[in-house]
Amino acid sequence: MANVYNWQINRDMSYPYEGKYPERQFAAVFNINRCIACQTCTMACKSTWTFSKGQELMWWNNVETKPYGGYPQYWDVKLLNLMQKAHDRQEKSMTWNSEGTYDGMTIFEAAEKEKTKNGQSRVLGYLPKDHEWTKPNIGEDVSPPKSTKKDKMGYITDPIKLPEHKSFFFYLQRICNHCTYPACLAACPRKAIYKRDEDGVVLIDQERCRGYRKCVEACPYKKAMYNGQTKISEKCIACYPRLEGKDNHITPDGVPVETRCMSSCVGKIRMQGLVKMNQDGIWAKDEENPLYWMIQKEKVALPLYPQFGTEPNMFYIPPRWAPRSYLTQMFGPGVEQAIDRYAAPSRELMAILQLFRAQREVIYKYSIKKGPKIYEKKVTLSDGSQTGLDIYNDTVIGYNEKGKECVRTTVDEPMYERPNKHFNSI
Ligand code: SF4
Ligand code: SF4
Repeated sequence: MANVYNWQINRDMSYPYEGKYPERQFAAVFNINRCIACQTCTMACKSTWTFSKGQELMWWNNVETKPYGGYPQYWDVKLLNLMQKAHDRQEKSMTWNSEGTYDGMTIFEAAEKEKTKNGQSRVLGYLPKDHEWTKPNIGEDVSPPKSTKKDKMGYITDPIKLPEHKSFFFYLQRICNHCTYPACLAACPRKAIYKRDEDGVVLIDQERCRGYRKCVEACPYKKAMYNGQTKISEKCIACYPRLEGKDNHITPDGVPVETRCMSSCVGKIRMQGLVKMNQDGIWAKDEENPLYWMIQKEKVALPLYPQFGTEPNMFYIPPRWAPRSYLTQMFGPGVEQAIDRYAAPSRELMAILQLFRAQREVIYKYSIKKGPKIYEKKVTLSDGSQTGLDIYNDTVIGYNEKGKECVRTTVDEPMYERPNKHFNSI
């Protein structure tokens, strides 16, 4: 095992290979607070990549309801249970210390400690059963039932108010995380999985793969999938022809465009980018990049289950209404700070949020032109205290790979009144 640095758990960790980092990394932010689970993203992906025989139960993009939903069913609960058992046997705990360092074992370290006699397993994982892939929408819109009081008529008597709802659910948007330390790649005995130098996209070489399913077993997010028809494994390819700017119908000047799932999002909850990476695996400082700004500077978007140790590159703005303990086990120790920063956003964050789905070219840089103050209100924070929020009608501008302006919008969304002649014209 090599020693690599994982910034999400704030320490070095063991990984089967030396760290090798791309020039740019495919990454994205999902704002959970805005998702309506319309599944437009899911269908955009399905109709583009997984409509063939053998791919019927394959959803490279899925949106599941937490806490009960999961595709495959119970994927995170099952792995967390395996990890807990490994920690119990090793007399360790899966906890974070006050410095934000994960003190427990990652899935690579747990496998190393628990090596079986034949020593083959490099990653702690499990192979889902066939039926667990069959219900991508299980648990949809179901919330824990007991925590809310109801009167005789069944009406909820607990007031539903922030900072935390007693009964809750939220939608979790999931694609392959194109991890910096991919577990699928680490586990493949054929070395059929690779990470591209130019954009960090993780791909399965369809010629080399022999369908051993080690990637399916190892991926903690269960985003490597087996095709029973071709008998080899497949996964999200980050729509790489779009990333390469190769589709000249939509990018005549060859600049990268966002993936199908990102650009189809009607809830405007997704923003995808290509962030600069240093050769030591740390993100290069680039505060004009909206993803860098949200993830590394403002820390308003967090990785999913960072304790797994793969350094996933999809990040989430956590939902304001869900219990903090539930969110902390899912997104790590930065949850309260992230929610408070989102609940009372800085002037800059408020402007950047307007760029979500405002265009389809990948934004490399943004700038803000200041406008007048238009609104003020009080906001409740995680600890129940209140703070002031001032909103300004700033203009935010996004620039593509070539430095050309590709979007310009304002914080106060422009409103157009429909002319009378169209009244009831349907
Ligand atoms: S999410 Fe899974 S399939 Fe995707 S790169 Fe990470 S380990 Fe591999
Ligand atoms: S398209 Fe957007 S709003 Fe709809 S389910 Fe997907 S992420 Fe959520």
